[in-house]
Parts: sequence; structure tokens; C-alpha cells
Amino acid sequence: MKKMLGILFALVFACTLLAGCATQPGAAGGTEAAQTKDGALEVKVLDIGQGDAILIRTADQTIFIDTGDLDEHPKLEAALKKENIKTVDKLIITHPHADHLGGASVLFKNCEVKAVYDNGEPTTTKFYRDYLKTIKSKSIPYKALVDGDVLDFGGGVSFRVLSPTAEMVKEGGKKNGKPNLNINSIVGRLEYGDFTMLFTGDAEKETEKSTLSRHSAADLKSLVLKSPHHGSKTSSTTAFLKAVTPEVVAISCGAGNDYGHPHKEVLERYKKFNIKVYRTDQGGTIAITSDGKTYSVKEEK
Ligand SMILES: [Zn+2]
Repeated sequence: MKKMLGILFALVFACTLLAGCATQPGAAGGTEAAQTKDGALEVKVLDIGQGDAILIRTADQTIFIDTGDLDEHPKLEAALKKENIKTVDKLIITHPHADHLGGASVLFKNCEVKAVYDNGEPTTTKFYRDYLKTIKSKSIPYKALVDGDVLDFGGGVSFRVLSPTAEMVKEGGKKNGKPNLNINSIVGRLEYGDFTMLFTGDAEKETEKSTLSRHSAADLKSLVLKSPHHGSKTSSTTAFLKAVTPEVVAISCGAGNDYGHPHKEVLERYKKFNIKVYRTDQGGTIAITSDGKTYSVKEEK
């Protein structure tokens, strides 16, 4: 009887341990729904249709990387309200396409934006000119980011810029000889203790190649990758994924979008690399939290 009880206790103990493990926010591949209670960093890849809008909150600052498309303002407004965002310490625009810059006017209207960063590559659209006008009229500090710059996101979180270079911007992004604004998208790695996440805008294979040519794989290696160009086959090359070796990829795209993003061959490549895929079109906003040691990913649909 005594022996039986002993076994029972051992079993109960083992189950408790296992149950405990199942609710822990994971490190390697740990993508369970549990939210890090004392997580000082929160990254939300917002569900704003076809485009990118990423909200980052550290212990000290609120940062936006891109703002979604012109016709998705209601979604961005709703997100600002839900998250109670009144101040944006840093707004980073990876490149001036509408699906990244289109919601900047919403931030300018609803929040105090304290600093703006982009890649410095101009374009001719009205919304781009309006964006520049607003920065000027509100006297918001502005800087074009280049490879080597490091931004302090506060709370021990930093953002290391890996692309473009000043020369690339001066020449203007080109693909097969034709102007292409995606090429000079800002690529940067967020670093918080052991946690790393790579932001890519709409970087294409040309961007990935040139970034790899200037940086070691160690500079790019990240636990989480924001899928370049909404999971398009123009991007996420094998060489790039080999360097980044992410455990998780976050794809920001609209349900049934005209481009067919994310492309099948890219999803297959992610699968081959054993990368866990999260998609805003399927699971809604992707919320990543980290305490600088471990991290967890949650879908907010
Ligand atoms: Zn885009």
C-alpha cells in the first residue's frame, strides 16, 4: 500500500510538472498562447489588412514601424483606441509605399508623434508629400536611417539598422534596372537581452543579398522574423533564412489579397526550415511578448 501511494504521489508530481511546463512561455519554438506576465517588451503585428503596421511597446517608449494602407485607416484608428495610444515616441517608415506609409496621417492626427525615421528615399505621391509637410509643420525631429545606426527604444531595447546604406538610397532602389521602392526598405534587428526580432519592410531578394554581403549571419540571426514583403516570393531567400534562422515568422497580409500573399513557395520554404508561421489574415494581430529571456506569441483574433 505504501509503495502504491509512493507511485501515486510520483505520478501526481510528474503531471504537475508537465502541466507547469505546458503553460510556460517557450524559448526554443515556444509559441504557446501564454503571455509573459512581467514582459517588458511587447510587439504587435497589427491586423490591418494588406500592409504592415507594427506596434512596439517597451518599458519606456511606444514605437510604430509602418502604419498600414490609405484605405485601412479605420482599422488603425481602432487599434490606437484599443491599445490606448496617445503618444508615439518613434515612428519608423520602412519605405514610402502606400501600404506602409498610408496610415501615418492617422498617427499624426490622433497622437503626439515625437520623432520620425525613414529610409530617406523620396517619391512623388501626394500622401508622401503630405507626410513630409506634416513633419515640417509640426517640427517633428526627423532622421533618415542607414546601415550602422542604432536607435534606443528604451527599457533596454535597441534597434540596429542593417540596410539600406546611404549609397543605396542615393542611387535609388532598382530591380532589373527599373525603380523599385521595396529594395531600400529599412531592415533592422530589435534586440532585448536574449530576444531578437528582425524587421524587413518589403525587402526583396536584392535587399537580402546586399544585407548579407555587408553583415555576418550573427548580425542577422533572430528568433522572430517579420516576413519580408508580406510573404512574397520576391523575398525570404534560402540564403537569408539560413542566416536569420528564425523560430517564428510573422506574416502581415490581408485575407484574399490581390497579390496572392503569402506565396506558396515561401510557405514551403518556411516549413522546410521548421519555422512556425503566424499570419494576420488567419489569426489576426500577432502579439509577441518577451522579458528579455524567453518569449511567447499569441494570436488576437
Ligand atoms: Zn508592402
